[in-house]
Amino acid sequence: MRRKIVAGNWKMNGSKDLAQTLVGYVRSRVESLDNGVEVVIIPPAIYIRDVADNAGESLALGVQNVGQWASGAYTGEISAGMAKDQGCQYALVGHSERRQIFGETDVEVAEKVARLLGSGLRAIVCVGETLEEREAGQAESVVADQVRKGLSAVAPEHWSEIVVAYEPVWAIGTGKTATAQDAQAMHASIRKVLAGMGAPAEEISLLYGGSVKADNAAALFAEPDIDGGLIGGASLVAEDFVSICRSMPANT
Ligand code: PEP
Repeated sequence: MRRKIVAGNWKMNGSKDLAQTLVGYVRSRVESLDNGVEVVIIPPAIYIRDVADNAGESLALGVQNVGQWASGAYTGEISAGMAKDQGCQYALVGHSERRQIFGETDVEVAEKVARLLGSGLRAIVCVGETLEEREAGQAESVVADQVRKGLSAVAPEHWSEIVVAYEPVWAIGTGKTATAQDAQAMHASIRKVLAGMGAPAEEISLLYGGSVKADNAAALFAEPDIDGGLIGGASLVAEDFVSICRSMPANT
C-alpha cells in the first residue's frame, strides 16, 4: 500500500517559538488521527532540533534541500548525512523555488537524489510546469521530462525511497489550485512515466502541492492517484494544517 503523506514546507518562515507552539499543537491533534496519514514537518534546517524536540513520535521531519556532495568545502550547504543525523526522514529535492531562484537544474536534482539514495532519507522530488508551459499544451511533457531526468539515477532497489510531488509552478503561493481532475490527470501521467522507467509505479506515493488549503484538500486527496499533499503557506497556520491532515481519507 502506498504511504499517505501530508508534508508542511515552511520555506524560509518560522521561528523557535513557532517550532514549539505550532508543532506542539499539530502533534497533539495528529496523534489521534486514524486515517493512516504520515505528517511531515519541513522547517528551515536551523530549526530542525527545535521541531524535533516538540514533534514526539507522531510527526516526521524533513529538510528543504541537501547538497549533492557527501561533505567538504561547500559553505552554506548541509548534507544528507547531517539531516539524517538530526533525525530527519525526508528531504525535498528540486522545489520550484530552488529551480527558479537558485537555478537548480535537472542534473543537480538527479545528483541530489543519487546522494540521498541509501542515506536513510526519502527524497520528495518536486516537478511541475509553468503557466506558459501549461498554456502551450506542454504540461505533461515538461513534467515527464523532469521525472525522467531527476530520477535517472534511481536503481531498482531504491524506488521505495522516492516520493514525487507534482507542484504546478503557477499554483505555488498564488491561491490558484489545479482542479482535482487536472491534478489527478497529471498524477496518472506521472505514474505512467514511472512505470515506463521500470519503477514499481503503483507503490510510489505522489503528492500534490500548490495552494492546498483546508477547503480544497479533501477533493484533491479523494482522487485515486493523489496520495497526499506538499503544503506551503497553510502549513504555517496550525488549525489549517491539522484540518488538511484530517482531510485524508482513511485507508480502505
Ligand atoms: C510549496 O511550497 O511547496 C507550496 C505548495 O506552497 P503553497 O502551498 O503556499 O502554494
